[in-house]
Parts: sequence; C-alpha cells; structure tokens
Amino acid sequence: MILANKKAIVTGASRGIGQAIALRLAAAGADVACVSRSAESVQSTVDAIKALGREAWPVAVDVADGKAVEKAVEDILALMTRVDILVNNAGVTRDTLLARMTEADWDAVLDTNLKGAFHWTKPVSRLLIKQRSGRIINISSVIGLIGNAGQANYAASKAGLIGFTKSIAREFASRSITCNAVCPGFIDTDMTKGLSDDLKKVILTKVPLARLGTPDDIAATVEFLCSPAASYITGQAIAVDGGMVM
Ligand code: NAP
Repeated sequence: MILANKKAIVTGASRGIGQAIALRLAAAGADVACVSRSAESVQSTVDAIKALGREAWPVAVDVADGKAVEKAVEDILALMTRVDILVNNAGVTRDTLLARMTEADWDAVLDTNLKGAFHWTKPVSRLLIKQRSGRIINISSVIGLIGNAGQANYAASKAGLIGFTKSIAREFASRSITCNAVCPGFIDTDMTKGLSDDLKKVILTKVPLARLGTPDDIAATVEFLCSPAASYITGQAIAVDGGMVM
C-alpha cells in the first residue's frame, strides 16, 4: 500500500488509460476523485474503486472550462480535505491533414489536452504548495516527441504539455512537488480502436516489443511516479512505448 490514504484526482477516468490509472492508484491505497464529462460515464470506475475498499467520487466537468474546473476543485477539496496527486490525463484527437484542419479542430484538441492541464494544475498547485508536497503527472504522448502527419493539433498539444511539465517542475521543486510527463506509444483503448488492422500492422513494425501497449502499462508508470521511490524524479518526459521512440 505505497499510496495509503493519499488523495488523488485523475481526469479522463471513465475509460482507457485514465480508468487504469485511477484503479492502480486505488489498489495502492489512494482515494480518487474520478473526472470525466459526465457522472454516468465515470460511475463504473467509481464502483470498481469502492469494491477495492477505497473512497471514490464521480466529478462531471469539462476540463476545457476553466471556471467549472475551479469550482470542481473546491467541491473535491470539500470531499477529500486534501490533494496529494493530480493526473492530467483527459485527452481527445481530431486527426486530419493540416490543409483540412479547421480552427475548431485545433481549438478542441488544444483546449482539452493542454489548456485542460493548466486549468487543473493552477488551483491544485495552490494546495500542494501549502502542503509542501505533491505529485503532478501529465499524460503526453510519443507524438509530442516526434510529431505525426495528420496530427498537427494533437502533437502541438502534447509537445506543449511537455514544456508545461518542465516549467512546473522547476517552479515547484523547492516545495517538494514533482511534475513529470508520461508519453504513451500506441495503447489499446477507444482512442486507437478506429485504426485499421493494416495501420496497426504498420505501427507494430515500429515497436521493438512488437505489441500495442495496455492501459495498465501506462498506469504502472504513473503509480511508480506517485510512489516514494520516485521522489528524486522531476521534469521528465518518460516514453512508455515498447521502444518505439529511443
Ligand atoms: P479514451 O479512451 O478516448 O479516453 C479519454 C478520456 O478523457 C475519457 O475518460 C473521456 O471522458 C475523457 N475526456 C475527454 N475529453 C474530456 C473533457 N473535455 N473533459 C473531461 N474529460 C474528458 O483515451 P485514452 O486512449 O485512454 O487516452 C488517455 C490519454 O492518453 C489522452 O490524453 C491521450 O491523448 C493519451 N494518449 C493515448 C494514447 C493511445 O494510444 N491510446 C497514446 C498516447 C497518449 P468522457 O468521454 O467520459 O467525458
């Protein structure tokens, strides 16, 4: 129980990577506020955490809405009394070549993936600073490291998240708060479900470990970064990608 009685917020906890992270942190002893756009979508994660004997709360908020996030942080604090861990995981794609990309495609991805992390980190960091401890984990992507045709908006959001992570790490290090980014490769979730089998085969030729990642591969790294064993790691962008980017 390396995270016994820690209080965590995980955004995008209704499925995929965020759900796996919420469950991992709970299995390690944390109570978790589970964020998604609707309380219904995140209820199964909440129920699974309660079945592990931990506390969990559904939090319905759009991470792109700054005012709503500030209010959600107040509500969460009233429930959990403190926050030790923030995982900014909520993310979306609107893939298309630049020539066809609309401003709405750009804004939707940047507002959720990058601005969403800003909206959560600002109010939560005030609490962490007072406590003089805390862990912030931002879920970026290998696409933020190497780019990808058809994903200019997504790559920009994920590269931005890495710059954000390094700046936050420097800003809060003196208060014993660490901030790291995890960069998943291709992970088997709803986000990648739409890829054709042919494309998946091509992707696998670029993955030395020759398999798609699982949500739990990412959750295990997040759990480690939240643990006492990772107290001297900050400002890093850690690829969890089967060796795709090295
Ligand atoms: P997913 O299965 O599509 O799940 C996305 C999660 O984000 C859902 O819980 C969704 O909740 C939530 N979400 C989306 N927009 C939101 C918003 N505006 N406000 C609040 N919650 C929102 O995606 P995933 O594959 O697990 O990806 C999780 C993270 O990992 C994302 O940041 C993604 O970019 C990153 N990532 C994924 C891969 C991959 O291969 N899958 C690779 C690299 C990085 P609701 O829809 O229920 O509201």
